[in-house]
Amino acid sequence: MNSNPSSDNETSFGFRAVPQNERQSLVNNVFARVADSYDVMNDLMSGGMHRLWKNDLINWLAPSKTAPQALLDVAGGTGDIARRFLDVAGPRSSATICDISAEMLAAGRKKLADRYGERLRFVQGNAESLAFPDRTFDAYTIAFGIRNVTDIEAALAEAFRVLKRGGRFVCLEFSQVQTPIVDRIYDAYSFRVIPRLGELVAKDGDAYRYLVESIRRFPDQDRFAAMIRAAGFERVQYRNLSGGIAALHSGWRI
Ligand code: SAM
Repeated sequence: MNSNPSSDNETSFGFRAVPQNERQSLVNNVFARVADSYDVMNDLMSGGMHRLWKNDLINWLAPSKTAPQALLDVAGGTGDIARRFLDVAGPRSSATICDISAEMLAAGRKKLADRYGERLRFVQGNAESLAFPDRTFDAYTIAFGIRNVTDIEAALAEAFRVLKRGGRFVCLEFSQVQTPIVDRIYDAYSFRVIPRLGELVAKDGDAYRYLVESIRRFPDQDRFAAMIRAAGFERVQYRNLSGGIAALHSGWRI
């Protein structure tokens, strides 16, 4: 357990080292298996906290109520960010959910397509190579998605490319807990309770073991902020949520 990638061609899939070119299909397999129970599991695992964190993302993004804005929500899954955006943005604003998983998109479409009509689009695609022209979007969001991407630098470069000048990048991701005691409780909960919940509800303990392990593999707040800056973003800042269990990172394409 906890093995580090040992060669240039290896990367981590949770705590396992796997060939880089196999990782995305392992990730896709996880989300194909959990898509139908994904929303219920999110509520159960986080005690509903993920809803508050997603509200925090939208509050920080502060969509305009008047000017039309185009949002790209990458790894958008079942649409929690896109629908929050559309609920507060002006009526001429639109959201595009881009996700690599057909199963997650199908779950989102089932839930939301009728509600927003043409204001909401679903597009299957990889965060590392987006099929959108340069400078298309006013905002790019990614919630609990980037740690699943194999080449994070490539995804950040793509985020920068598809944003207009003056556009904003906001990422919500699990992060590093800042308080030692909370850290220990959170660790015990993550490794003991979450895989069991996954087994009971989603009938898939392994998928949830990967999700927990991948959180520990993700760069901490400062390292991730440095990666965002390296992709060309300016005014990069982050905010810890719930003591660092999750964090919001923001950057601007100036
Ligand atoms: N954003 C949603 C939310 O917050 O509820 C879903 C997050 S879910 C934990 C992670 C999502 O990332 C899955 O829907 C998965 O299919 C997607 N994903 C994984 N790798 C991806 C990639 N390379 N490009 C785009 N989406 C990806």
